[in-house]
Amino acid sequence: MRRFIFFSALFSVMTLCACQPDTQPKPKQAAENKTPVVVVVNYPLQFIVESLVGPEIQVLNPVPPDANPETWLPADAMIQTIQQADLIVTNGANFADWVKKLSLPRSKVLRTSLSLKDALISVPDFEVHSHGTGAAHSHAGTVAFFWLDPALMERQAEVIAQRLIQLVPQEKESITANLEKLKDSLKPLSQELDQLQAEYPGLHWFSERPVYQYLARRCGWTMHHLHWKQGTVPNESDWDKLKTMQREQKIPFLLWEHQPEEKRVEELAQHGVNSVVLDPLTMKPAQGDYVTEMQRQLVQLRQFLKQHQSETAESKE
Ligand SMILES: [Zn+2]
Repeated sequence: MRRFIFFSALFSVMTLCACQPDTQPKPKQAAENKTPVVVVVNYPLQFIVESLVGPEIQVLNPVPPDANPETWLPADAMIQTIQQADLIVTNGANFADWVKKLSLPRSKVLRTSLSLKDALISVPDFEVHSHGTGAAHSHAGTVAFFWLDPALMERQAEVIAQRLIQLVPQEKESITANLEKLKDSLKPLSQELDQLQAEYPGLHWFSERPVYQYLARRCGWTMHHLHWKQGTVPNESDWDKLKTMQREQKIPFLLWEHQPEEKRVEELAQHGVNSVVLDPLTMKPAQGDYVTEMQRQLVQLRQFLKQHQSETAESKE
């Protein structure tokens, strides 16, 4: 009996000891149970991820609401948060400066442009600039605003959904169902573009910089960019270039990313160029969401073209 007590006591001690190492990994386990964090670089990607997942994932768009997601750079604390995220969904085509500047764990980065390789558009004169005192010149660059073609946004959503399922396999069913819902919600945008293409084929447009190429291709339109820097006043040589282009091509419209100054609109009108805004929604709109806001803008664009029927007729080849 005594012996038994001794052994059982020994056994208890042994099991206690055996338990000891178990107490160590507990904090790790707590970390594993933490809500996974998915970082995105712009609002369209935020919209996609939020459409696909629920509260089981924390979606983090680190860009402050009033900052430009293309040029914003994170401070130290945010850099750490981003580096520790479970997944970083980037746009590709150099959309966000911080993606290049930060050292990000490669295995956690999903660059959505990689799934669109066959559909990417590059322009030969992407951005005019000069190095030091060298002459102004340009290099070819890939246009980053893929989502403006809903078919490409759908492909971005598909590749993101796949990756999210790897991250939270237990949510596979709901993510798959949400992906279908998201695709359905993009259909009205596609229909709106079909209508624009049918009613106004072959239009030529100006833009300040390469932004609308995917939308233009979708509608059978051609974009010409002016190389105007955002937020700067065009100088005399900018206007001369515009006049030259106008003499050759007679391009009736300019698509603006944001509401331009009234003065600029008037100056352009004097050169036969009518202004209309189509915000690519890289930042979250004040009202509605990506789909409702893009839909509203496309309807507005069609109304604008209807009001300028005579110019659209001239623009067609
Ligand atoms: Zn250069």
